[in-house]
Parts: sequence; structure tokens; C-alpha cells
Amino acid sequence: MGLAPSIILSDTLTLTLGLLLAGLVVLVALLVVVLLRYRKWLSEIGTGATQMAKGDFSRPIRATGPPPVAALADTLNQMAQQLDDRLSEVVRQRNELGTILSSMEEGVLAVDSQLRVISLNRSAAAMLQLNPAVTIDRPIDQAISDPELRRYISLTLETGRGVQGEVTLRQPNPQPPKWVYEALMHNRRGRVKDGEEPAPIVLQDRIIEATSAILRDAAGRRMGVVLVLHDVSELRRLESIRQDFVANVSHEIRTPISAIKAAAETLHDDMELAPDSPPDPQTLGTFLGIIMRQAERLHAIVEDLLSLARIEQGNRENTIELELCPLAPVIGAAVETCQAKANAKNISLTVHCDSDLSTKINQMMIEQAVINLIDNAVKYSPENTKVEVSARLESAEVVIRVSDQGRGIEPEHLPRLFERFYRTDRARSRQMGGTGLGLSIVKHIAEAHGGLVSVESRLGKGSTFNLSIPSQDE
Ligand code: ADP
Repeated sequence: MGLAPSIILSDTLTLTLGLLLAGLVVLVALLVVVLLRYRKWLSEIGTGATQMAKGDFSRPIRATGPPPVAALADTLNQMAQQLDDRLSEVVRQRNELGTILSSMEEGVLAVDSQLRVISLNRSAAAMLQLNPAVTIDRPIDQAISDPELRRYISLTLETGRGVQGEVTLRQPNPQPPKWVYEALMHNRRGRVKDGEEPAPIVLQDRIIEATSAILRDAAGRRMGVVLVLHDVSELRRLESIRQDFVANVSHEIRTPISAIKAAAETLHDDMELAPDSPPDPQTLGTFLGIIMRQAERLHAIVEDLLSLARIEQGNRENTIELELCPLAPVIGAAVETCQAKANAKNISLTVHCDSDLSTKINQMMIEQAVINLIDNAVKYSPENTKVEVSARLESAEVVIRVSDQGRGIEPEHLPRLFERFYRTDRARSRQMGGTGLGLSIVKHIAEAHGGLVSVESRLGKGSTFNLSIPSQDE
């Protein structure tokens, strides 16, 4: 008896279907496994990419999985490496630029096309008294108070051309705010010698040379303005001192030159008018006397100017030689030089100086300074008075003191007494043969020794000049 064909067919179908189903289940299971694996690989790549997006390139993605997945991880890693290199380069360049800008003595300030401050360095902040922390992004109207500087910037943005000029920045507050103080100290520290503390800062009005230039992007479009500020106050101050000095010298030498010229012309005219009768000896003597005295005066001015120039040059070039030597002979020599003048006015000159007092000095210069001080004491004291000269060790300084019982000096003159050509009484000084340079020479000599000179005076009682130099006994 055979099986019915329909039953056989149904069994085969069931088997096939079962096999198919089993195959499908295996396939789905495989697919799920593969998908899960892919999900794991892709999620690893995703985590790595997120990490990179946050700027962390320190952990490369593991290049596991089938070739396309590994290749993707590899490409991402390479991209990350390149990004990291470029970023490091950009940061290095930015830091370099920042360091250069912040160590510049010139102030640099940049604004964008909306006239908002986009950058300013330490010096610009100090010059303009701006706090960088709150100035960035501010409109210049609020940041820069000087209208002239603001005009330079807007003009440059409008025309595309740079502007240059000088402005005076008023400093309403002589005690600078903390950030300005630190910026100025930073610049000043760069200029003082090791171990020295820079002088304290008091703000004064500054003369600033400002130069503006247009900032353009790669396509040449105007994108802002950069302003460079150069503090020329010291330069202008020195220029004005030099101009004053030239004017003073010209004025000082004009008087003796005019007197010599007038005397010589008078003699010459007399002799031309009456060639057969030369001027009588008395007239001749008077005019020759004028010529000699005025020539003497010119000689004294030129000698003093040369002395000053030599000391200043030595000071500048550090070529003044100091050697350890006793003070007593140097002071003795100065007193000896002035003795005749003192005798002529019956002024008694007394000296107190320990014979073992020594320090490092330039003998010629100290002698010259003491001569100038004694000469003044004698010149500006009445007859029959006393001039005392002493040298003593006081703390770490050798103090040379010259005291007189002369007319004294009004207090208002004291601060300017050591300036070149400064006199309390011009006519009187000239009449005494003074050049107005004696005390200025003393001051420069003191400075050449790292010391200073000071004066105390009481009207009608007398004056005391102190020349202090550091004591160095080796
Ligand atoms: P000068 O050649 O005029 O003496 P100095 O520079 O030596 O120039 O002195 C400047 C001025 O200081 C003098 O003109 C004088 O007015 C004043 N002076 C200097 N020393 C004395 C002194 N011992 N007593 C009074 N006045 C003095």
C-alpha cells in the first residue's frame, strides 16, 4: 500500500518550510549579531568623533572591525591629527603674537569696521588708562576719551588711508589704576639693571605720536583700523631742554661778544678818524680792559660748558674712572685753590676731614666740585665771615659739606638751583664772574659718583651744600 501523494507533498513542504524558517532565523540571528557588532564599532567611532569635536585629540579611535569601519576610524584619526597640528600651530602663532604685542613699548589698539575694540596690548591699555578686561568689544566712543585719537580711527576707516599725528593725553589721575601700574612697571622692569627696583610711577600728561592704518581682509575689504601709539614725551622734553640750552648759551655769550665788539669798534673808529693821534693810554687801557674781562668771561663759559659735556659724556658712556683714595688731600687742594679769593675778603676757610677717610672717587672731579662750592661760598658771602669745609662718613655715605655765613638763598630758588644757567640774581652773578654753570657741574659730578648734592639755606644766615657719595672702601 503506497502513501498518498498529497501526504508526501505536505511533508516535503513542511520540511522545506522548516528549513527555510530555520535558515531565516539563523540569518536574522547572524544579521542581528553583525548589526550589534557594527553598532559597537560605529558607537566607538561616534564616541571618538564626539571627543574630537570637543577638541580632545589625545585618544585616537581604535581601528577595529571590518575594513570599511577600520578605514573610517583611520581617516578620522588622521583628520584629528592634522587638526591637532594646525590648532597647535595657530595657538603657537597666537601666543607668539600676544607675547610680542604685550612686550612692545608701543601701544597697539585694533578696532573692527563697527568701531569696536577687538584688541589692545598692555602698553596701549596703560597709555589710555583702559582695563583690557572690559574694553574688548566696546565701541571706541566709550573706550577712548581723546577725541583726536577717535578722529584718526574713523578717518582711516572712511578714507582707507593712514593718519599720523601727535596728541597730548591728559592724565587726570596721577596715581594710576592697578592694571595700568602693572603694565608700566612691566615695561620699566625691562629697562632697569638686575637687582634694581624701578622708580615708583606717577602719571603725567603724555605726548603720544599716533599712527593709524587700515586693516583689510584677504579679499581687500576694509575690516577695521589698527592704531599704534608711541610715547614721545621724553623725546620732546629732551628736545625742549636742548632748545632752552642753546638759547641760554647764545644769550650768555652774546653779552661778552657784544661788549668786545663794541670796544674794538670804538678803538678802530677812533684810529680811523684820527690816524695821526692814537687814543690816549687811559682810554686805550679802559677799552682793552673791557675786551680782556669779556674775553675772560667767554673763556670761563666755554671751559664750564666743556667740563659739563665731558662729565655728561663720561657718565653716559660709563668711562669715568673711580679709584680708592683719601679725601683729605683732595679737599686740601680745593681749599688751597680758593684761599687767595677768601683772603681777599678776609674770609676764614676751615677744614675738617679725617686723614683716614677714603672712598672711591675721581680725584680731579671731586676737587673741581669742592672748588665750585667753596668759590660760591666765598663769592656770595660778605667780608670777615667764615666758610667751613668738612668731609665725614655718615651711614654708608661720605658727605662733603661746605657751609657759609653768606646772604642765603630764597626758598623758591632752591629746587632749580642746580639747573644750568640758573641764578638767583643774574646781574650779581655776572658781576662776580659767575657763569651760572658751577652748581650744575657739581650735580653732574655727584651723579657720576652715584651720589647727589643738596642744599639747606636760611636767608641772612648762610647756606650749606652737601655733596654725598656712596662710601666704598675697597
Ligand atoms: P654762578 O656762576 O652764578 O655762581 P652757580 O651754578 O655756581 O652759578 O650758582 C647758581 C646760583 O646759585 C648763583 O648764581 C647764586 O645765585 C646761587 N648760589 C650758589 N651758591 C651760593 C651760596 N653759597 N650762597 C648764596 N647763593 C648761592
